[in-house]
Amino acid sequence: MSDANAGTPSGDKGTERLNPGDDAPPGTPGTGENVCPECQGSGRMSGAECPSCGGTGIVIEGIAGG
Ligand SMILES: [Zn+2]
Repeated sequence: MSDANAGTPSGDKGTERLNPGDDAPPGTPGTGENVCPECQGSGRMSGAECPSCGGTGIVIEGIAGG
């Protein structure tokens, strides 16, 4: 007998994949797509994939309604 597989690894919660620049999952009320301020929407920085938007050029940000 072995209990090597006891417990479940964390970090497998949810299916939404957020980029570091995202403020909330897509579809969240009060949020909307915005051009990534890091790469200006190009999705790339210094020839590499923009880490903020994950190369999409778009980030999800909260909409300030006041
Ligand atoms: Zn970006």
